Amino acid sequence: MTALTLTNVNKSFGTVEVLKDINIEVEDGEFVVFVGPSGCGKSTLLRVIAGLEDVTSGEVRIGGELMNLTPPSKRGIAMVFQSYALYPHLNVRKNMSLALKQEGQSKQVIEQRVAKASKMLNLEPYIDRFPSELSGGQRQRVAIGRAIVREPKLFLFDEPLSNLDAALRMNTRLEIANLHQQLDASMIYVTHDQTEAMTLADKIVVLRDGHVEQVGSPMELYNNPANQFVAGFLGAPS
Ligand code: ADP
Ligand code: MG
Repeated sequence: MTALTLTNVNKSFGTVEVLKDINIEVEDGEFVVFVGPSGCGKSTLLRVIAGLEDVTSGEVRIGGELMNLTPPSKRGIAMVFQSYALYPHLNVRKNMSLALKQEGQSKQVIEQRVAKASKMLNLEPYIDRFPSELSGGQRQRVAIGRAIVREPKLFLFDEPLSNLDAALRMNTRLEIANLHQQLDASMIYVTHDQTEAMTLADKIVVLRDGHVEQVGSPMELYNNPANQFVAGFLGAPS
């Protein structure tokens, strides 16, 4: 099965073409990394997949189903942003529960899923704390927890580690890799960091100026970059 298929996706803001004829497939369980320089359209692409932006033309299919007109909450996806976007007035438990409550899940299901996610993310000691009482790394784990409890088939991460210091970045990166092992889900992960791309990805999609420049495994791109641009991001030093 295919988790995601983008077919000839275009997105313009006014007269500015931000995404140009994007064709991408993500298989079930695959970890796909989108890399590219700032402003190349990575966040817009994730927002189009999530349904936070409409496409100008083209098709977005999730689990084989056409989703162009489906609202974000009905797409079976969950998104984790670079700015954690936690609710400051809610403790960790309630930050993680909120979306489930809005979905109308029972109290029992909510408790069960929050307990499971807290355990996975080592958040049990912090469950009653407020965001202001947490470190940056802990906040980011809560943001990931909020995605996990929804049990999506597809996770979208938009540069989730870019606000963390180097040591925490490595820890959290390993945690995300671990989660991918444990969860029955596909992940799309946006970064401009070469190490993150090379270590996390089954498949890397290199984006440049709104289009797909090259797709391949980390080793394929490293050993056979299509051009200087890809080499500059991921290739072997020449
Ligand atoms: P990235 O995440 O790769 O840094 P973005 O997807 O944020 O890139 O932005 C890609 C381009 O689209 C940029 O030139 C940006 O200015 C433009 N853009 C993004 N969102 C909007 C918007 N809502 N209105 C107009 N232009 C936008
Ligand atoms: Mg971005």
